[in-house]
Amino acid sequence: MIHVLDLKFLGYDNTIASFLIDTGDGLALIETGPHSVMNNIEAEIKAVGYDIKDVKHVFITHIHLDHAGACWAFAQNNGATIYLHPFGKRHLANPEKLMNSARMIYQDKMDELWGEMHPIPEEQLHIVEDETEIKIGNTTFKAWHTPGHAVHHIAWQVGDVVFSGDVAGVRINQEVVMPPCPPPDINIEDWEKSIETLRKINPKKIYLTHFGEITDVNHHLDSLQKRLHAWANWIKPHWEAGKKPQEVTPAFQAYVKQDLLNHGVSEAGVKQYEAANPSWMSVAGLMRYWKKKKDE
Ligand SMILES: [Zn+2]
Repeated sequence: MIHVLDLKFLGYDNTIASFLIDTGDGLALIETGPHSVMNNIEAEIKAVGYDIKDVKHVFITHIHLDHAGACWAFAQNNGATIYLHPFGKRHLANPEKLMNSARMIYQDKMDELWGEMHPIPEEQLHIVEDETEIKIGNTTFKAWHTPGHAVHHIAWQVGDVVFSGDVAGVRINQEVVMPPCPPPDINIEDWEKSIETLRKINPKKIYLTHFGEITDVNHHLDSLQKRLHAWANWIKPHWEAGKKPQEVTPAFQAYVKQDLLNHGVSEAGVKQYEAANPSWMSVAGLMRYWKKKKDE
């Protein structure tokens, strides 16, 4: 049984999820959300009949703060093991660099958005290679290295479902799927390969961190692929013209909003999408992608 926990990020419903599985040998959490919503995680775990203290295994899809920001607290308070991509390990063992770069971007909004992050002892960080299976109690978690959104990204397969982190996009209230494109790792070619990996797994369901369960897997992935290209191609001429991300963001945000409205998303829905996947981040991430591609 998979419990979808709504972490009510910034007070919004259905923007960041965490997933709880009772393995029979301790609780496993896939994604922790940011530390700023720790109280909500605790309340959501309680609401489905469990105690946060029994979370002994934490699987993270990647180390971005909205996915892994609270995992140190589970390591510290519960002695939990954190399962992650090899490229993420040094950042969680010593989160100073991660937090400094976040602080440069978010400045005085750090506490409200993300909260704190503290080092995790190396012996609690369990790195997982591609296609490795981790068996805990009655549940097997299989790691699929899936770069494109982030180089340190894993999609976790459990039986015939996949927890896709950000690599299968952001889709709220079963509406439109959008590709989250923050700096610094966006790579469209790698992302395409990862989408092919997801197709090959052929899961019955995908669980999106932003947000929840989807069952029309092929249609969803087709639509993600289409928008990924559309977004990258929208940004390209602005990058070629030498514009700065902040000059381009208002027009990009309007383009995304119009796309959402055209597909029947409400004004309130547009706000949820923007909270889960801010436009300015995708502008910065896609500009960086084009620059790297030229420098190659
Ligand atoms: Zn991410």
